[in-house]
Amino acid sequence: MGILAEKWFFIPTLLGIVGFLFYRFADYLQHKHTQDATQPTDLEQLTPEVYAQKKARKLKRTSSAVWKNSLAWGLQFGYVLLGIPTLINLLIAQKWSPGTIYTTLGIVGWVLNMLISKMFSLWSPTLPFIPHAHNPRKTWTFGNAAWQAWGIASWSLPAYFFFATLQQNGWVGSIAMIWVSQLIQLVIFIYTIKKQAIPYQQYPGLSTEFKASLHTYLEKQGFRDDEVGVLKGLKMGPNAFATSLTPGFRQIVMTEELVEGFRDPQNPNFKLKLDDSALEAVLSHEVGHIKNHHVPKSIFWGGLFSSITTFAVYQVFGAKGGFVLFDAETSRQLTMFWGQSVLNITLVFLLNFIMIGIIRGNEYQADTHLLETNGCKKGDQFFHQIRHIAPVPNHPLWDRCNATHPAPEDREQRIKEWQSKHCK
Ligand SMILES: [Zn+2]
Repeated sequence: MGILAEKWFFIPTLLGIVGFLFYRFADYLQHKHTQDATQPTDLEQLTPEVYAQKKARKLKRTSSAVWKNSLAWGLQFGYVLLGIPTLINLLIAQKWSPGTIYTTLGIVGWVLNMLISKMFSLWSPTLPFIPHAHNPRKTWTFGNAAWQAWGIASWSLPAYFFFATLQQNGWVGSIAMIWVSQLIQLVIFIYTIKKQAIPYQQYPGLSTEFKASLHTYLEKQGFRDDEVGVLKGLKMGPNAFATSLTPGFRQIVMTEELVEGFRDPQNPNFKLKLDDSALEAVLSHEVGHIKNHHVPKSIFWGGLFSSITTFAVYQVFGAKGGFVLFDAETSRQLTMFWGQSVLNITLVFLLNFIMIGIIRGNEYQADTHLLETNGCKKGDQFFHQIRHIAPVPNHPLWDRCNATHPAPEDREQRIKEWQSKHCK
């Protein structure tokens, strides 16, 4: 068993280091790419001064991101690989019971998540795909604290009790709990969004012509009027998103900033404001997400990856004894807790890369739906205006590693090309 466990320890550790270096390499390319960037010639409302300021800001951000991300991952990597075993052995020597040590590890993990990992959590290698819902700018909010606690508890509590009753066969229960937990999160999310959204027909900031035109489009697409609404006070900028579980339980929302217009904080002279045609195009993209079942599919992938790692944890780290860093008598719930942490921190780059790939594919597909059902509306306008706010393009590799959406310049270009072929 000892040899197997060490091999299993070695492979993810290697994957983690390779992933870490690969992501830092992408950061380096991004920094160079930003340095070499020149002002795009097609952004009419962007002065050279504002462009220079934005470029300088981005340059500062890209270089500080290298240090911040390295430090955050390095600290967690060190804590997980060596800190957790040390802590466990220390507390065992103090005659603490396995249950108390397990609880302590959970609390320490939660505090560390709150302190150093805005980007990823120790406990949830594949967060369910709930677009933009959990990207907290402030770390110490009740919402984020609860979210991080849920991430730890929803894995570690079932694992503790299922192993206590079923030993290594407990993986079945743990995996079932992963799916139940993801389902609960999604249901709560959709329910909350549905409750908060103001149906677009009742929203005063939209024109009568827009409402009539959108109504016709939605009817053709099989949507009810109350399934599209406006969300107030979300502070997530000009945005729209779609979420769904079943054909009867779904919601599309646009933020108030998207409807009312959004003044760029770095450039008060520019206001992102879409006309009726462009706004309808944005919503056609969101309809595409629902028609292609993107949220349930992403939940499926996230749940699958979590299930596979959990199964591996039970088989490898739940097996009897034989770890170099632990005594043979160490509680296997504790070695499993350690194993799950090791897999999370080492597979984070690989899984992030895969999930980003899936999500980017979804975005491309939603744009296809927009083109096929409403392509002659001014869908390119949104991206053209977004580019005024973020005019410095990302390096393609960095973008592929980090961005959930294809580059706005590519999306604008794609729509324009399509329109020149299909629209008068
Ligand atoms: Zn989208």
